[in-house]
Amino acid sequence: MHSLIEQERAYGAHNYEPLPVVLTRGKGVYVWDDSGKQYIDMMSAYSAVSHGHCHPELVGALTDQAQTLAMVSRAFYTDKLGLFLKKICELTGQDKALPMNTGAEAVETALKAARKWAYTVKKVPKDAAEIIVCDGNFHGRTITIVSMSAEPQYRAGFEPLTPGFKQIPYGDVDALEKAITPNTAAFLVEPIQGEAGIIVPPKGYLKQCADLCRKHNVLLICDEIQTGIGRTGRLLACEHDGVKPDGVVLGKALGGGLLPVSVFLTCKEVMNVFTPGDHGSTFGGNPLAATVGLAALKVLVEENMIAHAEKMGDYMLTELKKIKSPLIEEVRGKGLLIGLSINPRYYSARDICLRLMKEGVLSKETHSTVVRFAPPLLINKEQIDFVLKALNRVLTQAYEEIKTT
Ligand SMILES: *Cc1c(COP(=O)(O)O)cnc(C)c1O
Repeated sequence: MHSLIEQERAYGAHNYEPLPVVLTRGKGVYVWDDSGKQYIDMMSAYSAVSHGHCHPELVGALTDQAQTLAMVSRAFYTDKLGLFLKKICELTGQDKALPMNTGAEAVETALKAARKWAYTVKKVPKDAAEIIVCDGNFHGRTITIVSMSAEPQYRAGFEPLTPGFKQIPYGDVDALEKAITPNTAAFLVEPIQGEAGIIVPPKGYLKQCADLCRKHNVLLICDEIQTGIGRTGRLLACEHDGVKPDGVVLGKALGGGLLPVSVFLTCKEVMNVFTPGDHGSTFGGNPLAATVGLAALKVLVEENMIAHAEKMGDYMLTELKKIKSPLIEEVRGKGLLIGLSINPRYYSARDICLRLMKEGVLSKETHSTVVRFAPPLLINKEQIDFVLKALNRVLTQAYEEIKTT
C-alpha cells in the first residue's frame, strides 16, 4: 500500500474509509494526486468547497487578514465581525447571526436557542421542550445531535443519549401536524437531505411545514449547512418553496473552502434569549473567519455563482436522466446537489466511485447506494461533459462485466 496512506491509517483513528488517492494540490474544480494525476472534484468536501479550490480572491483575503489580525476571541470587538454578520443577515433576510466554526456547533446553537425560547417566550414547562426532527436527518456528530438521528450506526455505543427529540418521516406534512404538541419548540429540517442520499421532498413540503409551524407557534429551523450558499441554485434552498424560516443554520461553503465558518441566524425574539455567558465559542467569529466568510459571500454574489449553479445543475440532471443503464435506479437533486442511486443488486456506489476515480472523476458514496455529484459551483459545461462521458464508460464497462460472469 501507498506509504502515506499507511501512515494515516497507522496513526489515525479509523472513523473514515477514504478512497485510495493521496491529494496534494487543488485549483478551481480540479485536484491533483501525488503522482500528478488530475481529477475533477465532484465531492467538493461535502459541499464545503463550492467556490472551488484555493479561490484566489478568498486566499488573498485569508492571507491579508492572517498577517493583520487573526484571532482575539469574543472578549473584544473587532473591525471585521460586524461586517460579516451584517452581510449574512441582509442576504438571508434574518435579523441576527451567531457565529460558530463547524456545522455541528451551529446546530447545537440552534437547539439551545429553540429550547430557551420555548421556556422563556412560549412558556413551555421546565424540561418539557420538544424538538421535532426527520428520519434520515444528518445534523452533525455531537452526542446531542446523534441523539436526534435515526441512523443506528451514528448512535450505537455513544449512549446515554440526549432526550427531548421526536422523529417523524421526512416529506410528510401530516406526520408533522400529529407530532406537534403545546411543548414543541421547533421543527429542525434539511430542505434536501444530503447525507441521507440527496433526498428531495415533495414540492411545497417546506411551505406547508412553515404554515403549520406558524399556526402552532413552533420555530421552523432549516439546516442549510449543505444546501445553502448557492448549492441548489438559490442562496438558500428554502427559497425554492418561498419560505423564510424562523432559524437558518449555515456552515460548510460559508468558509470559502478554506476555514470552518458557521452561523445560526434567526429573528430578534429568538436570538435575544441569549445573554452574556449563556453560550459561546473561543474561535467563533474570529476576524480571520469573519473576513473569509464575508469574502465567500461577496465572491458568490459577484461571480454570479448561484444562477450558474442552477443552470449547470439543470444541465447535469437532464443529461444524467438520459443515461440508460440498468445499474442506475434513480437520479435526483436540485442545482449542483445531485445523487445517482445505484442498483445494489449489481454494484455498490463505492465500486462506481472507485471506477470513476480511475477515469479522473472524484466522488464518494453516501450510504452504500448513492453516488454524490456536488462539484464546485463554478464547474462549466465542458467539465460536466467530461464527467458524463467518464460515467457512461464506467457504467457500460461495469455492466459488460456482469453480463460476462
Ligand atoms: C455537514 C453537515 C452538518 C455538520 O457539519 P460539520 O461541519 O461537519 O459539523 C450538519 N448538517 C448538515 C445538513 C450537513 O450536511
